[in-house]
Amino acid sequence: MTEGITDLSRQPLPEVITTEICVIGSGCGGATAARLLAEAGHEVVVLEEGRDVAGSERTQRDRAMHDQLYMDRGGRASHDLSISVLQGRVLGGGGVINTCDVVPIPEGVLHHWATKYGLEDFAPERFKRFTDDALGDLSASRIPESLVNSANNKLRQGAEGLGLRGEVMMHNRVGCRGLGTCMIGCPVHAKRNPRMVALPKAIEAGARIFTRARAVRIDNANQELKEVTVRTLDPGGYHEQGELTVRAKIVIVAANAIASAQLLLRSGVGNSHVGQNLTLQPQLSIIGVFEERIAAFDGVPQSYAVTEFEEEDNAEFGLWGYRIEAIMGTPGIVSTMLPFSGAPGMQNMTQYDRMAPSLLLAPDEPSGQVEVARDGRMTIRYEQRDNHRERLRHAAEIAAKVYLEAGAREVLVPTSPPLVIRSTRDAKKAQQLTFAPATAPMISAHQQGTVRFAASERDGGADLNGQVYGTRDVYVFDSSGYPTSAASHTMTPIIASSRMLTTKLLTRI
Ligand SMILES: Cc1cc2nc3c(=O)[nH]c(=O)nc-3n(C[C@H](O)[C@H](O)[C@H](O)COP(=O)(O)OP(=O)(O)OC[C@H]3O[C@@H](n4cnc5c(N)ncnc54)[C@H](O)[C@@H]3O)c2cc1C
Ligand code: SF4
Repeated sequence: MTEGITDLSRQPLPEVITTEICVIGSGCGGATAARLLAEAGHEVVVLEEGRDVAGSERTQRDRAMHDQLYMDRGGRASHDLSISVLQGRVLGGGGVINTCDVVPIPEGVLHHWATKYGLEDFAPERFKRFTDDALGDLSASRIPESLVNSANNKLRQGAEGLGLRGEVMMHNRVGCRGLGTCMIGCPVHAKRNPRMVALPKAIEAGARIFTRARAVRIDNANQELKEVTVRTLDPGGYHEQGELTVRAKIVIVAANAIASAQLLLRSGVGNSHVGQNLTLQPQLSIIGVFEERIAAFDGVPQSYAVTEFEEEDNAEFGLWGYRIEAIMGTPGIVSTMLPFSGAPGMQNMTQYDRMAPSLLLAPDEPSGQVEVARDGRMTIRYEQRDNHRERLRHAAEIAAKVYLEAGAREVLVPTSPPLVIRSTRDAKKAQQLTFAPATAPMISAHQQGTVRFAASERDGGADLNGQVYGTRDVYVFDSSGYPTSAASHTMTPIIASSRMLTTKLLTRI
């Protein structure tokens, strides 16, 4: 798929390009919008800071893949370093490095948004067709039993033993060979993600895609012709090397909830809501260690979830409670999650083939901010709330019991100092987790809510069409607009909401 993609690190462009629509970001939100707009006959340019890393370049090697597929090489974190903030930085965005779980926005959340926040387009009966289309884009299907590996089965076995509700999830893989390296890219392109579906269709319909193209500023945001300043990067994506301007009537920002807010703040575009109300959905890991070989790295990493404690229609917050999902990472990912370094770390990694890890996913209240200083540096400020700590403690206690029920020799909560649980009575120790900074390594993969959609400028940063307040035709089409956590996973919600917002835009242009 190289035709239609111009890598600006290798092929300089004229200093000024003019187009009707400029889409910033080629992930779930941007690729979907670009495809629908191009298919409707509009002139579209997509700007993507990452590069097209495909085929044999997907080497399944941690270092090279983190370097080329992740934002800040996987090293991005919240202000006090307590949460590792993971995002894609590659053509196709986060869909290239995610674990393929397909989870639509639950009806309860849609209802909550429509009634509490006035987002009428998200009312369940109106939004359903966009979710259905998103599921079609993803070729979504239930993960077949043959791909549920032994680590996921351990979680299921323990949950069933304790009588807890759970499910085998849906996914967007076709032709998966169970190689297990989803989080550093699929070498056989089995993921039906934006890189494989929306972008080829956008290109076929005439969209032009520019990679190693970092949008750094939007000017004239309230005039007919906007100017997007683009810095081109070197082939490795380390340094800026050139500059050009894209002039466009319509600018769609879909760079992920963090980078979209960063770009608007950097440009001085939008009102005081821009950058506020960030949700990170911080996740904590927990590891069952077994006597027998589990080989969690063999097969689909994440297929079973314990959903017993998830609430989809909490009156105050919408999505609430928590879920427990099995997971596996490459040695590089797992070793950084363990609370040991040096010789103890190496010793612990000798158990790699006997580990069955899980992630504890608890949706959070919008309690963070994206800030940009005068020199352009960005800070992700995030304070974990007490209610989040409490739910994670409860989740850790339950997950420990689940693994012990499945026969684990011990359960490790990789905190500092480590918490080791060897009996059901011991599981109560999870209540001691303090979550003081740097004691509990948490990750965020589902950032949302920095330019909240609202019917009035008083309540949010963008209107119900996704248009940023104070601008003329500058839009956010990613999860920036969500008032609370959409779902336990955000790929399907973003594709669906981008479809909805693009469909509305097409009726006006
Ligand atoms: C490790 C991991 C696992 C995940 N697992 C799942 C899962 O199993 N299921 C699920 O539903 N969700 C999952 N997610 C979340 C999901 O992948 C993301 O929510 C989704 O990809 C976000 O889509 P987006 O379009 O908002 O942004 P992205 O997909 O992040 O795309 C934004 C793109 O914009 C580019 N960009 C950023 N700034 C600029 C700029 N200034 N100029 C030009 N380009 C820019 C970035 O390089 C990036 O490619 C996971 C995420 C991660 C990180
Ligand atoms: S398990 Fe392997 S083959 Fe399947 S999607 Fe993930 S990386 Fe691709």
